[in-house]
Amino acid sequence: MSSYDVIIIGAGPGGYVSAIRCAQLGLKTAIVEGRETLGGTCLNVGCIPSKALLHATHQLHEAEHNFAKMGLKGKSPSVDWNQMKSYKDEVIGQNTGGIEFLMKKNKIDWLKGWASIPAAGQVKVGDETYATKNIVIASGSVPSSLPGVTVDNETGVVVDSTGALSLPKVPKKMVVIGAGVIGLELGSVYARLGSEVTVVEYMDAVCPGMDKDVQRSFKKILEKQGLTFIMGAAVQGVDATKTKAKVKYQPKKGGDEEVIDADVVLVATGRKPFAAGLGLDALGVKLTERGQIATDAHWATNVPGIYAIGDVIEGPMLAHKAEDEGMAVAEVIAGKHGHVNYGVIPGVVYTTPEVANVGATEDALKAEGRKIKVGKFSFMGNGRAKAVGQADGFVKIIADAETDRVLGAAIIGPAAGDMIHEICVAMEFGASAEDIALTCHAHPTYSEAVREAALACGDGAIHA
Ligand code: FAD
Repeated sequence: MSSYDVIIIGAGPGGYVSAIRCAQLGLKTAIVEGRETLGGTCLNVGCIPSKALLHATHQLHEAEHNFAKMGLKGKSPSVDWNQMKSYKDEVIGQNTGGIEFLMKKNKIDWLKGWASIPAAGQVKVGDETYATKNIVIASGSVPSSLPGVTVDNETGVVVDSTGALSLPKVPKKMVVIGAGVIGLELGSVYARLGSEVTVVEYMDAVCPGMDKDVQRSFKKILEKQGLTFIMGAAVQGVDATKTKAKVKYQPKKGGDEEVIDADVVLVATGRKPFAAGLGLDALGVKLTERGQIATDAHWATNVPGIYAIGDVIEGPMLAHKAEDEGMAVAEVIAGKHGHVNYGVIPGVVYTTPEVANVGATEDALKAEGRKIKVGKFSFMGNGRAKAVGQADGFVKIIADAETDRVLGAAIIGPAAGDMIHEICVAMEFGASAEDIALTCHAHPTYSEAVREAALACGDGAIHA
C-alpha cells in the first residue's frame, strides 16, 4: 500500500493550495480529484469562467454604450455566443492546466477518481487504498435549490450557475432567483448580452449582509443597466417545459400569487457543503446543524488525523478563504502555527462597477451600539473615475470613534475588488483611518478615493 504524510481530498482552491504548501513544507503529499480537471468549482464552473464572461460582456457594453461618446465610431460588435463560450473554456483550460503543472512541479501525486475514507489513516480511490498520516477534506460545495424548483442543466431551461455558464443560446427572457453575488454577476452577463433579466429576491435588499446604503446604490446602478428587480417575493415553484418556464411567487406583503414567464430560469439561491460518498457517517465525523463538517480552530475534525477546510466547513464560501485555510492547515500538520484572520476576509462582486467590502459593516456596528465614525467619498470627486466614465459609487471607511482604528470598509466603484486590499492591509496592521489619510496616494488613481474617505473620518475630504 502506497503511503503519504498527507492526502488531500478535492483539488479546488482549498485543496490544491494546501497540497502545494504541504509539499513545500517537506510532507509527502497526494491530492484526490474526481473531476477530469483540477481547480475545483472555482476554476471549472465558478470564479474564473464567470469572470471571463463578465469581461467579454463588459467589453461589449463599453462598445455599445460608451465608445461613441469618446469619439470611437463605427459598427458595434455583434455577439458570437459560441465563440464567447470557447473563449471562456480556453481560459478555464489555461488555469486548470496551470494547476496540473504546479502539482507536478511540487511532486504532488494526483490520484484520479472519487475518494472515500474507509478508516482514519486510509483513503480509497477506485480499487486502491492508500495509507496516510493525515487527511484534509476539501470537498467543497454544490448549488442548492428551492422546494418546487427542479434544476436541469441538460435541458437548459431551469439551470444553476453551472448551467448558466454554458447555455446553448442567449435567452430572450431570463429570471434569476436570488439577488446574491452569483445571481447578480451572471444576471449582468446576460443583461449585457441583450436578455431581458428579472431578478426575484425574497429579501427586501440585494446582497444580504452589506450595508443598506451600498445595497441601495448597487441596485440602482444595476437597474440603470437594465436589470429589473422584484423584491420581497417568495418563489413558490417553477413549472418548466423543454423550452420555457413559469416562475410562481408570492409577494411577502400579501396579495395573489404572481407568475413570470422565462426562457431560462437561473436558480442562484446559494450553495451547500458537499461531502457525499466520503463515508463520514461511518467514521463518526461531526457535522454542524447546516451540514458543514465541524472543525476546531485548527481545522481538525473530531476524528484524529482528519482535517477539513474551504466551502465544506463554516464561514464565507469564497475561494480565497479556502486558500488561506489550505495554507494554514498545512502549517498545522507540519507542526507550525497556521493562522487565518476571519475578521479580514474581503468579499467582492465583479459586476461593473465592482462592489467590495471587508470587516464590520456600519449597520452591524450601529446595531451593536458601538461608537463609530464613517468617512464616505463619492467617485464623482475622483478625476480618474470621471476620465473613464465610471464615477458611480463611493468608498466608505468605518473607524472606531475614539481610537480611529479602521473596523471595516465598503467600496462600490471601478476596481473596487483590487482597491479593497489597501484597507485589508491597513486592518491587518491595526491602522487608523489617519494612517491611510497620511499615506501619499498617486494621482490620478481610483485609490485616491480611499484616501479621501479616510480623510473624511477626520477633518474632511478635500474634493468633496
Ligand atoms: P471546490 O472549489 O468546490 O472544490 C472541491 C473539489 O473537490 C471539487 O473539484 C470536487 O470535484 C472535489 N471532490 C469532492 N468530493 C470529492 C471526492 N470524494 N473525491 C475526489 N474529489 C472530490 N469565490 C470567490 O472567492 N470569488 C469569486 O469570484 C467567486 N465566483 C464564483 C462564481 C460562481 C458561479 C460559483 C459557483 C462560485 C464562485 N465562488 C467565488 C466560490 C468559489 O468557487 C468557492 O468558494 C471555492 O471554489 C471553494 O473552494 P473549495 O476548495 O472549498 O471547494
